[in-house]
Amino acid sequence: TAPPTATMAPHPPTAAQTAALQELEAEFAAPQELLCNVVHGLHKSMDAGLMDMHSPRLAMLPSFIVGNATGSEQGRCLALDLGGTNFRVCEVVLKGRHGEYSVRQQKFPIPQSLKTAPAAQLNAFIADGIATFLRDHALQNEDDGNVLSSSPLDLQISPSLGIPVAADAPVVKQVISLGYTFSFPVYQRDLCHGELVQWNKGFNCPGAVGQDVVAQLQLALEARQIHVQVTALLNDTVGALVACSYRYPNTVLGAILGTGSNTAYMEKVARIPKLQTQIKVKRPDLQQRALEQDLEMVVNMEWGGFDNPCAIVPLNRYDQRLDEQSNNQGKQMFEKRISGLYLGELFRLVVVDYIKSHQLFGAYTTVPDNLTIPYALDTSVVSRLVDDDTPNLVHCAQVIKHTLGLNGLTPTDHTVLRRIAAIIAWRSARLAGAGLGAVVLRRRDRLEASSPENPLTIGIDGSLFEHFKTYRTTLLAAMTEIIGQEHMPSIRIALTKDGSGVGAAVAAIMSAEGSCL
Ligand code: BGC
Ligand code: MG
Repeated sequence: TAPPTATMAPHPPTAAQTAALQELEAEFAAPQELLCNVVHGLHKSMDAGLMDMHSPRLAMLPSFIVGNATGSEQGRCLALDLGGTNFRVCEVVLKGRHGEYSVRQQKFPIPQSLKTAPAAQLNAFIADGIATFLRDHALQNEDDGNVLSSSPLDLQISPSLGIPVAADAPVVKQVISLGYTFSFPVYQRDLCHGELVQWNKGFNCPGAVGQDVVAQLQLALEARQIHVQVTALLNDTVGALVACSYRYPNTVLGAILGTGSNTAYMEKVARIPKLQTQIKVKRPDLQQRALEQDLEMVVNMEWGGFDNPCAIVPLNRYDQRLDEQSNNQGKQMFEKRISGLYLGELFRLVVVDYIKSHQLFGAYTTVPDNLTIPYALDTSVVSRLVDDDTPNLVHCAQVIKHTLGLNGLTPTDHTVLRRIAAIIAWRSARLAGAGLGAVVLRRRDRLEASSPENPLTIGIDGSLFEHFKTYRTTLLAAMTEIIGQEHMPSIRIALTKDGSGVGAAVAAIMSAEGSCL
């Protein structure tokens, strides 16, 4: 199987270029046999991770959210989304009618320096962002201008919230409830606390690993007298799953294919042995209920850490170089072949190699400065090159000139660069597709209970999935290879863009309604 090319390349590569590309294709190969090994390996690692509290295989982190959302959840709360690139504060209103909602939000790009600053500084930045949001957005009922406070989860506005209180104002000790989507692995003991397992995606803030991320944020909020209380803590994949099930209750998977890569899915509580020891002491009543009623819990797989010893997916020289230069060596090896943060970097490493080897790009003998900087290219470079379907690769030419800063290349060079991008994206999409297929097969029971009228639904968010057409097509094809064409009519894939906001809000409300252990 060879990576697809959207249009016939009008300028075929030379013999030397063809040979170099064939070598690259072999290094990034993802044939069906490899995909089957990934599926098998994932299934084994999932079992191991569900047994063992601190599994070296897959983390398989219980979320404490039990059952699917129904779409009738109703209320209003704040949501916070700490991702890999941005952090966002939202006010979410769930209307409780078939997944309807509204969101008001403010985005704050995370300065590069904060990604490795002490955790207290990151939390101060987040708390300041919340304060800004609360100051800029009057959290009021849009319909009548009155503050809503009818349910315990509705926002209750304290007059002292970020605003100096007049001496004669009544003192109101009300607290705003907040769902916190935290896009890093957290070991939870209940819905609203959790210890950070490790940083990923280039983050490395000292003072957070092993600590309760909620308690740390809560401290920063208190220091600013912001009366906000975290009532649900969840991974972004969990948020995607929950948000998707708010609209489609038969949702079984939530995945993020963006800066990072990961999946959460519904697992039977009876098949999470480590959970039973974890909660036995605290909530025997609920545990018993969960088992008796055959309940399911959302589990965050942390599949980025799958196959860390690289026993299944071959580690090529570019993967190796990328890993060596990363700040989490030997970790997140599956993620390093898949996610958006790394695709641009793999592409850069290959292009630099091609320039240095003088086989290609005759116009260059030294690498231009802008290509010497690690992570100088993001995935959009890759997707724009691959998705270009103009006859003369007009978009490619623009990207190559303006974003890569390479001038004076021949049209043939353009097709070569495009091909490099396609080869790297191809492996990523196929591995991700196999991973999703593996998780669907893990829930064969739910697949068989689904139908074209009530399809098993997968909520996916992330730039790779949303903005990269060829990637989506390749991913779907790989998934189909794993699951089998005959089952595909019973599967729906839903772009779930607001997982972190709506998912967090739904989780907070499900928690108040008792749908959490
Ligand atoms: C993190 C996951 C997260 C994923 C997608 C990974 O690096 O470990 O917790 O879900 O990125 O954001
Ligand atoms: Mg995100």
